[in-house]
Amino acid sequence: MQLERLRNGLREVLKSNQFWRDRLVDVQGWDDFESLPLTGKDELVADQGVNPPFGSNLTYELDRYVRMHQTSGSSGDQPLRWLDTKESWDWWLRIWSDHVYRSAGVTPTDRVFFAFSFGPFIGFWSAFAGAERVGALAISGGAMTTEQRIRSLRDLGATVLLSTPTYALRMALHARELGLDLATSEIRVTIHAGEPGASIPSTRDAIEAAYSATSFDHTGMTELGPTGHSCAQRDGIHLIESEFIFEVLDERGRPAEEGELVGTNLGRWGMPLIRYRTGDRVVSSRETCSCGSPYLKLAGGIRGRVDDMLTVRGVNLYPSQVEEIVRRHAGSSEFLIERRSVEQMDDVTVVVEEAPGLSVERLEADLRQALGVRLGCRVVQAGALPRADLKAKRIVEVP
Ligand SMILES: [Zn+2]
Repeated sequence: MQLERLRNGLREVLKSNQFWRDRLVDVQGWDDFESLPLTGKDELVADQGVNPPFGSNLTYELDRYVRMHQTSGSSGDQPLRWLDTKESWDWWLRIWSDHVYRSAGVTPTDRVFFAFSFGPFIGFWSAFAGAERVGALAISGGAMTTEQRIRSLRDLGATVLLSTPTYALRMALHARELGLDLATSEIRVTIHAGEPGASIPSTRDAIEAAYSATSFDHTGMTELGPTGHSCAQRDGIHLIESEFIFEVLDERGRPAEEGELVGTNLGRWGMPLIRYRTGDRVVSSRETCSCGSPYLKLAGGIRGRVDDMLTVRGVNLYPSQVEEIVRRHAGSSEFLIERRSVEQMDDVTVVVEEAPGLSVERLEADLRQALGVRLGCRVVQAGALPRADLKAKRIVEVP
């Protein structure tokens, strides 16, 4: 079925889509598919740079597209812009309603509260419209303070909460400070994305206790689509193989149980992705799941990024982004990133050896400006940090 959908889609794509015409040949069987090149985000970013503003991965004339969204640009790149047609937007919503919400038991009687900013990122909008498609009552929590969201979801009797795991915990903490207990709210289900927290047992336990609810994990990417969700078995993520082709490949591009997740979408032909490297590090399992789903499972959800990544208050950071800014202030001084878990959230402190003209205040301000999140900084004596022989260990876990 996957192969047939791919072949039908590619027939259309290869007529007019320059990006894929330059890269692909027609696919007859799985051998052909497996010999197609892998595509990375860097190529997409470069293409949009050369062919602004939307790049050359367009199968149709621009009038055919009805929505534009973009990535957060959190890997330090330019944000990627992505267009959807009416058909591909419907595809998104169908996956939300028939897979993500269905697996979490969301029904037309639910009131779904979205504790998100509703910026240009596709996740909020597709989840919101997907809830409408279910027939549930969709409630935007955009442009609200945390307190307003807490009061709103209580006053409106919301039964389902969508947020990042970190933000769910932050709301629960803040509610307690206000003398409110979200465990007594009507919330019975929470669905989380953006961070792997809802697949991390201790984090999930904390959210479930705070809301007296059952928590589910969801995975997706702006450029690829809504890819998966956790199930009743609660030990990983099922990938939605009826709408995508997924592969797990090792560093040399060979099929492996553990490696990088590579995805091909089968319902977004206006701006498709074929063998796209997600950058997510996963461990896959074909063992039968007691929930009855036949789909490939990612044991423990997404384990992390292929290259290292930090998540601070829902913002994804790469050590290389921090380094870039630290180096501007402290030159070649040694530095490291201390990571500690406080109330299930990543708390990150940048530790820098003293350098001429180094101002902690200015470094903190610059990091906040560039990364969109506040990182604490501390200056130590020159020579105080450990030296590595070959490769610096940039992230240090602090208990
Ligand atoms: Zn399952």
